[in-house]
Amino acid sequence: MQAPSLGGVQVPRGNGKTVVRLRHGSSLNDFADKIDANPASLVTVLFHLGEMATATQSLDEDTFGTLAVELGYVIEMVSAEEEDRELLGGFDIDLEAELADEGDEELAARPPVVTVMGHVDHGKTKLLDAIRSADVVAGEAGGITQHIGAYQVHHEHEGVDRALTFIDTPGHEAFTAMRARGAQVTDIAILVVAADDGVMPQTIEALNHAQAANVPIVVAVNKVDKEGANPDKIKQQLTEYNLVAEEYGGETMFVNISALRRTGIDDLIEAVLLTADAALDLRANPDKDARGVAIEANLDKGRGAVATILVQSGTLQVGDSIVAGTAYGRVRAMFDEHGEPVEEATPARPVMVLGLTSVPRAGDTFLVAPDDRTARQIAEKREAAERAALLAKRRKRISLEDFTQALQQGKVETLNLVLKGDVSGAVEALEDALLKIDVGDEVDLRVIHRGVGAITQNDVNLATVDNAVIIGFNVKTGERVAELADREGVDIKFYSVIYQAIDDVEAALKGMLKPEYEEAQLGTAEVREVFRSSKFGNIAGCLVRSGTIRRNTKARVLRNGTVIEDNLSVESLKRFKDDATEVREGYECGIGLGSFNDLRVDDVIETFEMREKPRS
Ligand code: GDP
Repeated sequence: MQAPSLGGVQVPRGNGKTVVRLRHGSSLNDFADKIDANPASLVTVLFHLGEMATATQSLDEDTFGTLAVELGYVIEMVSAEEEDRELLGGFDIDLEAELADEGDEELAARPPVVTVMGHVDHGKTKLLDAIRSADVVAGEAGGITQHIGAYQVHHEHEGVDRALTFIDTPGHEAFTAMRARGAQVTDIAILVVAADDGVMPQTIEALNHAQAANVPIVVAVNKVDKEGANPDKIKQQLTEYNLVAEEYGGETMFVNISALRRTGIDDLIEAVLLTADAALDLRANPDKDARGVAIEANLDKGRGAVATILVQSGTLQVGDSIVAGTAYGRVRAMFDEHGEPVEEATPARPVMVLGLTSVPRAGDTFLVAPDDRTARQIAEKREAAERAALLAKRRKRISLEDFTQALQQGKVETLNLVLKGDVSGAVEALEDALLKIDVGDEVDLRVIHRGVGAITQNDVNLATVDNAVIIGFNVKTGERVAELADREGVDIKFYSVIYQAIDDVEAALKGMLKPEYEEAQLGTAEVREVFRSSKFGNIAGCLVRSGTIRRNTKARVLRNGTVIEDNLSVESLKRFKDDATEVREGYECGIGLGSFNDLRVDDVIETFEMREKPRS
C-alpha cells in the first residue's frame, strides 16, 4: 500500500503493526532497505517531522520510533548477534540457550578451559611452562610445544584420562579484554600468589575480574621453596576476598606449589578438575557445526592470516566455511600446539587455523556457516555494524563544539577537561586562566587531570570514562594514542598559544564554537556501462580508478572534467551480484547513486567524506 503524500513523497506504509527489525547504529538507508523505500524520501518524511538527518547517519531508537509510527511500522532494535542469527536462519548463536535446549543424550563432557592469573612476577609464566611439561602425552610424543595461544594437556584423574585446556596468555588483562568483547572462554581461573610476597594489588584485581565473570578460582600458592614463604598467611589474607579455604569452612581449594622446582603441579591439576566437576557442568554437543572464539591471531608472511581458535561447541573440520569476527574463509588446514596437522577439533580444543582472508581479533566469536557466500555475508554485515557502532559512539562523547548542545539537552552539566602541557608553568597558567572564565551558574568547568608531557593512553582512558575533552599545550600524542582517542570518540585539542585555548573553551561554554569541516577524497571510479533497474534506478558499471569506493559515502559526478551533479551518495554498491561495503582500486563494481539517473559512459564518480578540520 502506498502512503498518502507526506511532504510530497511516496513511501510504502505498514499497517501499524508491521515490525521492522533494525540493528543498533542503523541509518535511514538501512530502514529504507527493509521497507523497500527510497532513502531520500525517508529523509524528507523525517524532515517534515522536524528532524534533520542524512540517509547514512546512524540514528537512535527514538528517532526511528517517531518515523516508524508515522509510517505505520513498529521498530525493534536488535543486537548484532541477533541479526547474525537471523541471517543464518535458525542457527543459534547463544551458547547458553543452546545448552539449555539440547537434550542430555547430545551432550558430551568436554575439558575445562583454564586461565592463569595473578600479580606480576608471582610465577604465572613459569607455572604454564611447568604444566606444559608435565603433560604425559607431550612427553611421549617428544614434540616441542609451540606457542599458539593455548594448549591442552592430559592428566590421569581417579583412573580416567582427562584433558585440560590452558590459555597460554597469563593475566587478567587478556581475560577481561575478551570479556569486554562478549567472549567468555575461561571456565576456571588459577590465581597464582607468591608465598614470599603475599596478596598484591593485581592479585585482588585478578580475583575481582574472575568473580565478576562468575569463574571459580583455584589458588596456587607459589614459590613455597623459598625461604620466608608463608602459605598460611595467604589463606588468611584471601579470606577477606571471599576465597575461603576448605579447612576454614569454605570451598576454595588452595594448593602449595613451586613452579620453579615443578612440585605440586599434579595436585594443582587435580584441584582444578575437582573444582570443575563440583561447580560446573562442562558439556557440549560435538555433533554439529563448530562455534567458538578466536584467542590469538596474526599475519604470517608465508601462510597469510593465522588464527588460534578455541572450539566451544560442535566439531570444526578442515574444509569448513567459517566467520571469525569480520574475517571469513575456508579452513585450509589446522594444527595443534605441537605443530601436528589435525583434521578436526572438538569442544575445548584450541587449534591454529589457516585459510582466513584477514586477521580476526582476540575475543572475536567464530562460527561455521553453511557455505562460503553466507560466511562472507555475515562478515560483511558484522563489519558494517561495527563501523556504524563506531560512528554512533563517536557522536556520543563530548567535544568542545557540541558541548553547548549537550548542555541544552540536559546531557551534561560540567565541561570536564584534561590538561597536558610541555612545562608545568604553562599547565598551571592555563588551568588558572580557564578556571577564571566566567561561565554563569548553569555550567561547571572542571579540570579532572593535569600533567606535564605527551598525551598518553591513560589520559584518553580517563577522558573516556569521565567524558572529558583533552587540551594539549605544546605537546603531541603518539600514533597509538591518537588512534585510541579516535576510536573512543575523545576530542583532543592542540594549542600553542594559551589565549587561543582559553578563547575556544570560553566559546564552547557560550555555544559559539562551530566545527569546521574539510573534504577528504576517498576514491574515483570511471563509468564503463550503465544498467537500468526499475527498482534501484540506474546502476553504473564502473572501474575503480583510485582509492576505495565505499557504500554510503558522499559522491559527485564529473563529465569531461566538470561537476554535473553534487550532493549525491553511494546508495548501493555491488561486486557482481553481491552487496559490497567497499571496492578497491583496480576492481569493477556497480554503483547506484539513488535517484540520480543521468549517468553516462566515461563519467567519473568521485567519492569523499567531510572530516572535521583540526584547529591550529
Ligand atoms: P609472571 O610475571 O607471573 O609470569 O612470573 P614469572 O613466571 O615470569 O616468574 C617471575 C620470577 O619468579 C622468575 O624469576 C621465576 O624464575 C621466579 N619463580 C617463578 N616461580 C617460582 C618458584 O616456584 N620458586 C622460585 N623460587 N622462584 C619462582
